Amino acid sequence: MTGTDRPDLDSYRAAARVWIEANLVRRPTAEAPRRKPWEIEEQTPEELAEQRALQRRLHEGGYAGITWPVEYGGQGLTREHERAFLDEAAGYVLPDLGIAGGATFGVCAPTMLAHASREFLRRHIPRVLAGELIVSQFFSDPDAGSDLAAVRTQAVRDGDRWILNGSKIWSSGAYYADAGMCLARTNWDVPKHRGLTWFLVPTDARGLTIERIRQINGDSEFCQEFLDDVELTDDDVIGEVNGGWTVTQTMLLYERGAGSAGGGSAAHTGLRADLAELLAEVGTDDPQVLDLVARNHVDDLARAALGRRLLALMTADPTSAGSLASYGKLASGVLDPVRANRMMEIAGHRALAWGEPSEAGAHAALGLLNSRFMAIAGGTSQMQRNTIGERVLGLPREPSFDRSKPFREVVRDARNWSGAVG
Ligand SMILES: Cc1cc2nc3c(=O)[nH]c(=O)nc-3n(C[C@H](O)[C@H](O)[C@H](O)COP(=O)(O)OP(=O)(O)OC[C@H]3O[C@@H](n4cnc5c(N)ncnc54)[C@H](O)[C@@H]3O)c2cc1C
Repeated sequence: MTGTDRPDLDSYRAAARVWIEANLVRRPTAEAPRRKPWEIEEQTPEELAEQRALQRRLHEGGYAGITWPVEYGGQGLTREHERAFLDEAAGYVLPDLGIAGGATFGVCAPTMLAHASREFLRRHIPRVLAGELIVSQFFSDPDAGSDLAAVRTQAVRDGDRWILNGSKIWSSGAYYADAGMCLARTNWDVPKHRGLTWFLVPTDARGLTIERIRQINGDSEFCQEFLDDVELTDDDVIGEVNGGWTVTQTMLLYERGAGSAGGGSAAHTGLRADLAELLAEVGTDDPQVLDLVARNHVDDLARAALGRRLLALMTADPTSAGSLASYGKLASGVLDPVRANRMMEIAGHRALAWGEPSEAGAHAALGLLNSRFMAIAGGTSQMQRNTIGERVLGLPREPSFDRSKPFREVVRDARNWSGAVG
């Protein structure tokens, strides 16, 4: 859509308001109802079907993929239009396709839009927008996470087919997704970054087994996949064959929150809901508690300010987004555990044993178990520090013994390595 065809923001907002009132259901309160900490967060197949139907309604109404190209079912509008719609819809129930839905809309589809062929996008993006294609991320191998270019899951060409073998792990929500966006090695005779290709693997493909992994917090949203002679074709390739590292960089950029600056952008100055709830339960008599509450509150404000600042810098210079996203990700990775520890201290005995009356204490305990997510997912804090050191500060690259060797030799030498010096 060109600038002249675009509705002005005021009339867009007014039309959106009318549509939202007619088509969406109001939330009971502005805050999403929080689940009880001892309940596993998992939608039933029926609930997921309802959410898919709601996503379809949004798409049919013209309010899905607001900034995505019209050619692929989007609306071709600006971030401001999207913001206007989200502002108007703030008090209403929007589709919740779970953790894999978040990855689909926040990471996988934007990466596909940047790299996949027109035919691929015409086939798949309208289905994403209609809630028919939920895509989980299959990038980590059991032996390749931080060093993602070292994946050994492989795709071998056989006539007009690709045959995939290997294993993927930590794929959030894969058990209910319709497909996985999968990174595989397609050339072993070039350095590791140059022999990779992305594929879209249907989760019902023959030869694909998905197993769920039980986590410390009681959930089992993580999965491990085993690919045994899974057959795909060139139609399933995302981006260039052997050009997968370029696609990976885009994927990691979205994964690290380049679109959202990873720190919360609300200019909200009150206590965050979980802190306020905990304080209401614990009371305000203990000065030590007040000190901890104040420390968490100040950190929350600082993170929100950092998020806004990063977003402004990224908007002013989109080419800097890749490195800047690392700051927001690192801030979350470092501060989430600090915050969670303070919540435990504030909650005291309530976070060690609880019944229904002490939900805030139980939330603090669960928060502690979950507090390492951002220090690991999509690149650990150490990897963010490496990125900032090398790409922003211009410090020397960390030494690498395998960057320019054909990957086949890297694997062979690793197998033969005895640990002896000289
Ligand atoms: C909540 C969550 C969701 C996730 N979702 C997905 C998903 O949907 N799909 C998917 O494919 N994966 C997913 N992951 C996996 C995630 O991307 C990897 O766990 C992550 O990249 C780290 O890889 P690893 O676990 O193999 O750790 P390793 O790479 O083995 O790292 C182990 C330790 O060594 C350190 N280290 C490694 N290399 C260096 C270095 N060069 N310099 C300094 N320190 C180093 C690391 O920082 C870390 O402390 C998820 C992980 C989490 C926690």
